[in-house]
This record gives sequence, C-alpha cells and structure tokens, in this order.
Amino acid sequence: MNARIVGHVEAVLLILILLFIPGYAAIMRAQHPAATAASANSAPGANVDSAKIANADTDPGEWLSHGRTYSEQRFSPLDQINTANVKSLGVAWEYRTYSVRGLEATPLVADGVMYITLAWSKVIALDAKTGKELWTYDPKVPGATGRYACCDVVNRGVALWKGAVFVGTLDGRLIKLNAKTGDVVWSIDTVENHMHTYTITGAPRVMNGLVVIGNGGAEYDSRGYVSAFDTDTGKLAWRFHVVPGDPSKPQENAALQAALKTWDTTGKYKFWNIGGGGAPWNSMAYDPQLDLLYFGTGNGNPWNRNLRSPKGGDNLYLSSVVALHARTGEFAWAYQTTPGDTWDFDSTADVVLADLTIDGKLRHVLMHAPKNGFFYVIDRATGKLISAQKFGIVNWAKSIDLKTGRPVENPDARYKEKLTVVYPAATGAHNWQPMTYDPQTGLVYIPAMDAAQPFIGSSSIDYHPHAWNLGIDFAAISDAVLKLIQSGQAPAPAVGFIKAWNPVTQKEAWQVSMGGSWNSGLMSTGGGLLFGGDAYGMFSAYDAKNGKRLWNIDLKTGILAPAMSYTIDGEQYVALLAGWGGAGGLSAFRDPNTALSKYQTNQGRLFVFKLGGRQIVQPLSPEGTPPVDPPAMTAAENAMTAKGFTLYHTTCLVCHGFFAQSEGEVPDLRLAAPEIWSQYDAIVLDGALQDGGMASFKDILSKDDVTAIRAYVLQQSHLAWDQAHPAAGHKP
Ligand code: CA
Repeated sequence: MNARIVGHVEAVLLILILLFIPGYAAIMRAQHPAATAASANSAPGANVDSAKIANADTDPGEWLSHGRTYSEQRFSPLDQINTANVKSLGVAWEYRTYSVRGLEATPLVADGVMYITLAWSKVIALDAKTGKELWTYDPKVPGATGRYACCDVVNRGVALWKGAVFVGTLDGRLIKLNAKTGDVVWSIDTVENHMHTYTITGAPRVMNGLVVIGNGGAEYDSRGYVSAFDTDTGKLAWRFHVVPGDPSKPQENAALQAALKTWDTTGKYKFWNIGGGGAPWNSMAYDPQLDLLYFGTGNGNPWNRNLRSPKGGDNLYLSSVVALHARTGEFAWAYQTTPGDTWDFDSTADVVLADLTIDGKLRHVLMHAPKNGFFYVIDRATGKLISAQKFGIVNWAKSIDLKTGRPVENPDARYKEKLTVVYPAATGAHNWQPMTYDPQTGLVYIPAMDAAQPFIGSSSIDYHPHAWNLGIDFAAISDAVLKLIQSGQAPAPAVGFIKAWNPVTQKEAWQVSMGGSWNSGLMSTGGGLLFGGDAYGMFSAYDAKNGKRLWNIDLKTGILAPAMSYTIDGEQYVALLAGWGGAGGLSAFRDPNTALSKYQTNQGRLFVFKLGGRQIVQPLSPEGTPPVDPPAMTAAENAMTAKGFTLYHTTCLVCHGFFAQSEGEVPDLRLAAPEIWSQYDAIVLDGALQDGGMASFKDILSKDDVTAIRAYVLQQSHLAWDQAHPAAGHKP
C-alpha cells in the first residue's frame, strides 16, 4: 500500500471518527448554521415550539411569534441600531407585493427566512438577508368574499411551529404549510355555520401543540368564537363561543350559561339569529406559567343594544378580555371593558403582558387600550382591575370605578333615534395597530386617535344574512352630517398620535402628532428607539425616552403594519410592510393628507432597513385616475337621487365612502371610466367585478335600487365635474 493510499484511508477514518463524536458535530453545526438550515429534511423554524417562543429573549435575532414573544410586548432587545447611529439607517432591500389593498402583517423570521402575508391571505417566504423570493402561496380566496370583510381584505400574519407555517384565510380556512416549500400540509374550514358570515384576518398563535385562531364578522350576522386545533392533525381541540346561543337550548359551558343572564332574550330581534357578535378577530397573548390564553372580544351584533337586548344588560362576553386555560379551552375569567356595548367598542386591540412594580409590589399584569379610550391594567391571574384611565378624548364614560371595575357612563351617550356624537369613534381611540411596551423606559407606546362618531339608531332592523346588520341608520347619519358640513359645524376631523403612556402612574409621558389619524403599529427596541409609520408613508424612529424624531424616510406608500427587527450574520435589520387600507383606509372620507391623495397609488411594498443601507425609495407610477366625464342625467334619474342617497348610504357607504367620495384604496365611484356607467346592473347585481372584491348585492338590492344608486352617484359625479371645471359652468 503506497503512502498516498494510506493517507487517503486515514483521512476517511478520521472523518468517520469525527462524525461520530457528537461534540465535534455540534461544533461543525455551530460554525455552519446555514448548512443546518438548508439541509434536506429540516425546514426553517423546525425547532420552534412553546419553550423556544417562551425563551425568545435568548435568541433575539429571530422573531418567531406575532408579537415576538407570548407577552406580545413587541420590544426587540436588539441594540446594534440605536439612538446614536440611527441617522445612517437606510433601505437594504425592497420587495414589491403587487397588491393594492391594505397590508397589516408582522413579518416573522426564523433560520434566515422571512414569512409575510398580503391582502387576500397570500403568504410569501423570502431570504431575510437578500429579499430573494423562496416561495409564494395563494389560497385563492374568492373575490366575492371581500363583501364579507368589514374592514378590508387584510391579513395580519402567520404563526410558525416545528417547521410549519399557519395562516388563516379571509374565507375562514386555517392552513398548515411546509415552511421550506410552501406546500399545503392540511387545510381545514374553521367556519361552523356558513349560514352566517365569518372571516379570518388575524394571525394564529401556537402553544402546547395547539394552533389558536379567532374569527371576525360581528358587523354582519355572526356569533364570535375562538378555536384551537391540533397542529399535527388539524383536529379541533376546543372552541370557546364568546356569546350565548339559542337560549332554548343548553349553552356549551357554564360560563355561557352565566352570560345568558346578561342578555334580554325576549326582544323582537332574536340576537342568536343575528349572531350576537363578540368576534375575537385580533388580539391574543399567552402566559406559559399560568397556562392562560388571553384574547380580546369584539362589539355586539347588531351594534345597537336597544335592538339586540332591549331591556339592557351587560351582554357578556362582548367587548371583553377573556382568559381561558390554554390546554382545555376552559373559562378562567373575563373583564368587560364596555358593558352593554352599543358603540362598536371592540376590545380587540392588543393584549400585552408585563411585570410591573405598582405601589411597591411586583404585579403580573395585562395591559389593554381598546377602542373605548381607557387604558386598563389588570391582574392577569385573577382578571381583577388594578387601574384604568382615559388616554384620549372620551365622552361615553367619565371614569372607571376601581371598586366595581365598571365604567361611570354618560347616559346621553346611549343614542336613540336622534343624532348623538360620541367620542371615541367606531374606529376607536386605538384599533388593531399594535402598541408596544418597552421594559427599558417602562412606557407603553400607543398608536392613538381622537375621532368623533355620529350615531342615529334605527327603530328596527331589516335583517339580511351576509349583510351589515348594525341597527344604525347610516342614511340619516349621512343626511345629518351633510347638514352639519353645510352649516360649518362638522365634527373636528380625526387626528392621530403616538402616545407614550406610563402604565404604573396611568399618565401620559409624551405624545407626538402624526398628521393622519389612521397610522401604523409600533415597535420599541433595545437601542432606545421607537419605530412607527403614518398614513402619508413616512416611517420614523423616535427616541423612546422623549419622542424626539431621530430619523425618517418617505416610503411613498401609506403604512399600517408594525415594524419588526432581526439579525442575519450579526447584522441588525428592521422590516416593515407598507400598504394602506383597513377600516380607516377603505375610503378615508375627507382626510386630505392620505397616502393616496399624495401619491395616487397604493402599491404594496416590503422594506428592509440596515445601517448604511443605500437603496433609493422610488415612487411607483400612479395607476391612473380616469377623467371625470360622466354621462348626462335624464329627468327620471334626477327624480330618483333622494332614493339613491338613502340606498347608497345604507349599502355602499362602508367601502366607497360618504357621498360616494373615496380617497382611500377602494375606487372613487364618481371618477368611473365611461364604460362603467352602463354596467351597473352587471357589476352590482351580477358580480361582474367580483374577482377584484366587488361582490354581487342581488340578495339585498333590486334592479330599481341599483338604478337609483347609479343616479345618486352620477349626481355626485356631476358635482365633482363642476367643482373641477369652475369656468365651464354646469356639466349637462
Ligand atoms: Ca367592530
């Protein structure tokens, strides 16, 4: 045997020996982590489980769960980007999503792969360092589903678990994907009754091998519930209904049996037929020590309690934070923020867990700043209220009684059938856009709004399945608002802020004005920074101590989604989706400074930033605004505009805006292209544009109704033409 062959054999033996020394193999893996992530059988995030998410702070370079940790603080400990160097932050790469609807997702990052969701529940996997697209998944949500989503066809993100990606779809499916390939592992229908209207827009959360998701739909005809499914099989493990069902039948559990006593079951409009509401469509948090899962519940359905539960009552568990034992779904406790909700005061804003020293004692608390304008600090083991204070303009209640935990209501705010202006608005003093708790400053940062809501209650409901059933007279409200505008007494326009809130003293530390009202969620970091964006497309970093703006960049697309942060190869990145929409962005009536009116475009983009990033943010070309050139109006059309006004504001307002004026992401009907005016029946009754999200309304509207709506929109189009061409006189 010659020396070369001996050397070769020895080398092979050495390799074999080394491979069987576990310690050496571990060293090799540590030196080549990318090789591990890319190996044939291991998907990104293969090691993500309850322990890994609970210990997220030991690996702050990843972002494995919606709010980063189970506590949902949205605080990234990363500090490479900090107050001293943030000036040099710039775009590392940009990914165009080719979507024109709202983007609300928090990107997740595991093993160097980023997962985002887009409008219509699409999922994208990207190389988190380069932005290279790895795979895309389109669940092919039918366009007609757009009608069943109150507040845009949005999605707030995925959950990761043991090499799988979970996404909820707008039409109510929960889908498990292979994190490496995007292939479907299983897909289940979470909708228990398709006679009612359910959506999913929220991000799932996973703990103990159960993937949990809540459903939306409380503006329509739904009974809210949250469900947990086995991550391996997709089998339903438990389901908790937020409100009681048919009172003639046994309720599903003792908590609902108790809740039933807080509803009037003798009303003409049987709430269990319309649904009752309470949709838990957004927030969740989890305490692994207590094994309690917390989620926020939505408004009553219909909104108007006078019709839903005419003799009053708290209507448990609407507008509440509910705690369940996570493994079994058994009820632990609930705290109702708005008893007997009648104002669309969802309590679905994020739930944030923290340990705070209050009156010298360490308290394990839950913090919550829902639509109703109060900031709550609650003992998260017992559900007992510790403190609550207003963080914005509130007129529906004076204060929260700490002994009873109940609001001291302003009785005038419970509207009847005449105009009543309530603060906050139905969009809330704080909506789904997440706040963040920074343990370094001890402050909570809230994307807050001050906005007024005009209410006029209906005296009855013309109940339609799969339609908005609110018990609110939007035609009368529109008429009243028009008169207020004409007399110069319109309510003040909505305004937005970042409010820094001290949860211990329940006092504001500082605030910055945001110009627009409907702005982005927030993230705080170990670098002493607070990141947030606005409706104009401006993304900024603030000094978390005092709100001083240290850096900003114009992304040229309005921003709703919160930023997140991660590291690759020791370098810190900040990622953010830009794409305006949601409840406040569909039509955005009379918000003169929206992203859309500024750039006339809403093309979605993902931006990733790093120190020294040099990519230029290019404005995307406008999609083109059709000229205002409406056809002439006939005498018969002029005669039906009043009927059209009422029908439009009852059926079309929510997406297309007051007075058919839209400055949001949904088309301004007054600016329709010439051929559209002859296709109203085909579009509104036959669903010709349903693939784009404009469903058929033939179950609600007749041919005569559509003719009247068209006449009203045409009248508005002529008014717009006249305003745009003052020298030309009236458009005939
Ligand atoms: Ca709602």
